[in-house]
Amino acid sequence: MGCVSNSARKGAIVKVGKVEEVKVVTTTDDLQIQPRQFVIHKEADILKDYTMGPKLGSGAFGSVRIGTHKITMQQRAIKTIKKSSISEDQFVKDKFFAEVEVLKTADHPNIVRLYEFYEDQLHFHLVTELVKGGELFDYIVSSKNLSEPVAAHFFKQILSAVNYCHTNGIVHRDLKPENLLLDRQDSSATVKVIDFGTSTIIDQSKRLTHRYGTSYYIAPEVLKKNYDEKCDVWSCGVILYILLSGKPPFYGETDADILARVEKGVYQMKGATWDRVSSNAKNLIKSMLNMDPRSRPTAAQCLESTWLTLMPDATNQDSIFTQDVLENLTNFRAEKKLQHAVMSFIATQLMNKNEVSQLAQAFRALDTNGDGKLSKDELLAQYKNTMGANQAEEEVQRIMKEVDVDGNGFIDYSEFIMASAKRESLLSKQNLENAFRLFDNDNSGKISAKEIRNILGREVISSDEVWRDLVGQVDQNGDGEIDLREFTEMMLKLF
Ligand code: AMP
Repeated sequence: MGCVSNSARKGAIVKVGKVEEVKVVTTTDDLQIQPRQFVIHKEADILKDYTMGPKLGSGAFGSVRIGTHKITMQQRAIKTIKKSSISEDQFVKDKFFAEVEVLKTADHPNIVRLYEFYEDQLHFHLVTELVKGGELFDYIVSSKNLSEPVAAHFFKQILSAVNYCHTNGIVHRDLKPENLLLDRQDSSATVKVIDFGTSTIIDQSKRLTHRYGTSYYIAPEVLKKNYDEKCDVWSCGVILYILLSGKPPFYGETDADILARVEKGVYQMKGATWDRVSSNAKNLIKSMLNMDPRSRPTAAQCLESTWLTLMPDATNQDSIFTQDVLENLTNFRAEKKLQHAVMSFIATQLMNKNEVSQLAQAFRALDTNGDGKLSKDELLAQYKNTMGANQAEEEVQRIMKEVDVDGNGFIDYSEFIMASAKRESLLSKQNLENAFRLFDNDNSGKISAKEIRNILGREVISSDEVWRDLVGQVDQNGDGEIDLREFTEMMLKLF
């Protein structure tokens, strides 16, 4: 098991910007299951686990390639960074680890998922979900400008990711269409925000002072090196302008020309293209490109803008599918912590991408305020469509109790995927065998208490007894370990 390092090496658990106390776990009931626990920092040769494929692109820190995971045969994106390119500069190094920390904790349908993190002698490798539809930028170029419903479909997703970041204390600082990937090249695609290399954690008592960003999208207050998370709202305003017109609001021959326009906040919305754009859309852009960040709306307020709330859904979300999803949620149950952990592991690390993509659409439809998590009220509104108020209240209370595994009062994205997926596909033979092999890190054919602790117990203080108890609940032959038959039987009891 030696290759798993202690990710709590900095001494505290950082949960997207907020420093949390290390949790003391004395019984298996105290264990919380969070997707970040499955993002393991492995000090190992990545080529043992992945076959490297073609290059996808290059960024500030290194190159990105397609990699195929040898056990699951899943294709993923692997960003490789030479240690020598960041190790001399502590500032750059800290930023790199900040990106890992942000991605590790971000659990949102529009933020690229981090699966694993490798470290070998010369490199770091970030293994993320592969987003196949290319950059939103290319989609805009090929479509020139988008119809308002399609632009709103993309923009709502971008704002939802930004709002999620801001409410969790993160500023991205380099939002632009090149950092927004699509899962497929069509107008109903899902957007994924990538590249958190310039992101930072907001300390409410301090203003940000480092100048980051790309000329077309940079906010004027960033040029003055005195800013906060509202700089992302400005960049989103620029993105919306481009989505609707195909052109940037601030332009010029050189960077200096562009920045001079940004500093003055001079742009126009005139001409044939803009004549066709609704005044609600124009009003939203104007509010987001307000020179005074204090008067600029928050991402949450933008999500509530008249333009977005009145815009019909361009994706024609299939309401029959949403009903199926609600029914799966209703039927979700897990009696044992380990069952929960395995389901959460499969949902976040192994599930079929097409199914996840469909569920992500259903999640968006249910998440009416676009904050990237489902509240009790959002669920109640849905269930009241098909049952009486009292029954809906009871149903939702039961669902929250069963599904809200980390106990934060909301159903997070991964919790939703886990609980709303079809049971037969989540717990397919293939997924169960793959999960077993990945838990069984030393390939012994059995999962030990130590192996489970290395996955679920890296960020808590606990005694060995807790992990032995967890195994004991499943270990039928009493050998202190879990074999594939015991593992499969434990999971199939959920049918
Ligand atoms: P980055 O270093 O994150 O800016 O990535 C550099 C380029 O690699 C991007 O502009 C994308 O074209 C590509 N890329 C990065 N991450 C992914 C991903 N998860 N899936 C597909 N392509 C990616």
